[in-house]
Formats: sequence, structure tokens, C-alpha cells
Amino acid sequence: MVPSPRVNITELELAELEQALEARGFDRFRGRQIYRWVHKRNVTDFSLMTDLSQALRIRMEAEFVVETPRVVADERSTDGTRKLVLELADKRRIESVFIPDTPAMTFCVSTQVGCAMACGFCLTGKMGLVRHLSAGEIAAQVRLLAAATNLLDQPFNIVLMGMGEPLHNYDNTMKALRILHEEQGLAVSPRRITLSTVGIVPALDRLAQETLMPNLAISLHATTDEQRTALVPPNRKFPLADILDACRRFPVKKRSRITFEYVLLEDVNDTAEDAKRLARLLDGIKAKVNLIPLNPAPGIPYRRPSDARVDRFAQILADRHITVSVRKSRGRDIRAACGQLIVEGGTAKSAAQQMALLIN
Ligand code: SAH
Repeated sequence: MVPSPRVNITELELAELEQALEARGFDRFRGRQIYRWVHKRNVTDFSLMTDLSQALRIRMEAEFVVETPRVVADERSTDGTRKLVLELADKRRIESVFIPDTPAMTFCVSTQVGCAMACGFCLTGKMGLVRHLSAGEIAAQVRLLAAATNLLDQPFNIVLMGMGEPLHNYDNTMKALRILHEEQGLAVSPRRITLSTVGIVPALDRLAQETLMPNLAISLHATTDEQRTALVPPNRKFPLADILDACRRFPVKKRSRITFEYVLLEDVNDTAEDAKRLARLLDGIKAKVNLIPLNPAPGIPYRRPSDARVDRFAQILADRHITVSVRKSRGRDIRAACGQLIVEGGTAKSAAQQMALLIN
């Protein structure tokens, strides 16, 4: 008889783990103990779980496994940013970034290997989609970053702004948030999590129904459909008006706002006209704008505007009573900044194939 494969604990929510334990003749309450070891202390080797008896650890080992991505590189930027390169079980690689004091400690995690969205200014977009990450792979990035930075017991923020489009990998992303939220694990509050998306409207409406709801950031980047479709191709299917309507329907918490990210590209979308149009578009939405001066990269056909142009854009928004911030570029010397995450060796499908997959 072929032995049945071991159950990978990192893919399970606590209730699922308890069920799996019971089904294999273990005590249900072991689930909480194991969850604490794995998620709260980043101990993934049964032999180190000292509150389980020797005999139990051996029996566990036969039935369960704690699969964890391998840290193959840990690069440090001069500004304190750190980038982990993680190798997954199938040898694919992803990147996860630690950004200190912004104002809190922030972990930037990936939701896919590559990305299907093909935004014209983003290096990850050039890779195409290789595959979705599993819930366990998404959650593991947080655990590994927290362990690497000694923050397992400290509060931190999470931004889903690494490689990939979280709403294109909806179920796994939401399951990862539930794993991270678990009290016995890292117990991350959804208030500390921000999900950034190009704006896939049906998925936004689904997100609006979730009990565990992260903060929302929309990658807007343009103020006319013509321009946005050129920069963010999914706009063809989900145009500006539809995304903004979905935002108006979105249940924004008290004293909270939706963030609109806007990459500034010199002479493309950074004119005074663009800024005024942006202010008009956001009218009636509880919004704040986060301006991201382009992080240039080889193969990206756009320029980063001067600080003066960035300031002018910001001022026009501020004059119209829109809260605006300018994202500081972090970790550019180790290619950890927005839009610079890419790992070699992906066999990508063409952008057209990707979009067909997304839309169908
Ligand atoms: N797929 C999600 C998360 C992506 S990354 C999304 O699109 O929102 C987070 C932010 O970095 C997005 O707003 C993205 O548009 C932006 N970004 C991508 N490439 C960039 C670059 N080269 N310079 C600055 N920001 C970039």
C-alpha cells in the first residue's frame, strides 16, 4: 500500500488542524499547542516541541509535516530595509520585504509567483504569472520575516504589496489572513493589514462581505480610462468608474479611508491636469492618496519625476482637501522597492494568455 502523504500543517487554520488531529487519533487540544510552536515561535521541527511527549512527537512526525519556505538570501539595504528571497517546495522563488519604522514595522509580502496584471511600470508584471501562492506560503512569509527581525512577539503591519495581485488569488489570500489572525498564532489584527489591488470589481464586492477585513488600497495610477488601460491592462475589463463605484459601496470603517496609490511617471500622468482630475474622481469617497514616484528599473520605459513635480502634484490634491502622502522609496539598492521584485527563472505565459485566464 502506498502511504498517504503527510498533512502539511502550515496550510491549515486551527479548526482544520484540530479536525485533522482528531481524524488520526490524536487529541484535539494538541492543535493549539502545535499552532503556538509553528506560528508564534516559528518552530517547525517536531523534535523541538518540548511540551509534547517523545512518543507523541514521533507519531506526529509520521502523519504531519511543517513545510516552510527556505530563506536563500537575506539582503540588507543601507536604509534598514531587508529583503528575504524564499525558495518554495517546488524550487520557485519569491521575495518578501521588511521595512522598518514607517511609522510601524512593516512586512511586505507576495501573493503570487510573478503576476498576470502586466502593469507597464512594474518589473514583476514583466514576469507574467508563474503560479498562485498557497495560503501557507503567504502566511509563512510573515512568520519568517518576524523571526528574522525578532518581531514574533511585537506588533507589526502587513502590506500585501509584494509580488502578485492578491484579489487574483482571492481564496488563498483570505485564508492566509485567517491563519495570521489566529489567536494561538501571530494574532495579527486586520486593522494592521493592507491589501493592495489593481481593482478586480467582483472580488472587491466579495471582499466587502468578509468578516476579517483588511484595509484597502487601490492602485489607481491614472485618471482617464485610456491612460489607465495603457498602464494597468485589467482596466479594460474593470474601468475607473466601476472601480470607484465599488469603492463607494465598500464598507469603510469609522475614521478609516481607502488608500489610492498613484505611481508618478514624468510627463505621463504627473501634470497639474492629472492632479485636478484625480481630485474630482475621488470626490465623495473616503479617500487618501499615496503618491509613489516611480522606482525606475531596466526595461521600464518611464522616468521618475523631479521632487518639484511630485510636490506640485501633492499640493494640488492638498488644496482640494485630500489627504496625501508621498511614499518614500525604500531598499532600492537591494531591488526591494515597489515594482522591483522579480526572480529569475519563471516560465511565464504571454500577457495575453494571462489576461484571458483572468477574465474567463
Ligand atoms: N498587485 C497589487 C500589489 C502590487 S505592488 C497592486 O497592483 O496594487 C504595490 C504598489 O507598487 C502598486 O501600487 C504598484 O502599482 C506599485 N508599483 C509597481 N511598480 C512600481 C514602480 N516601478 N515604482 C513604484 N511603484 C510601483
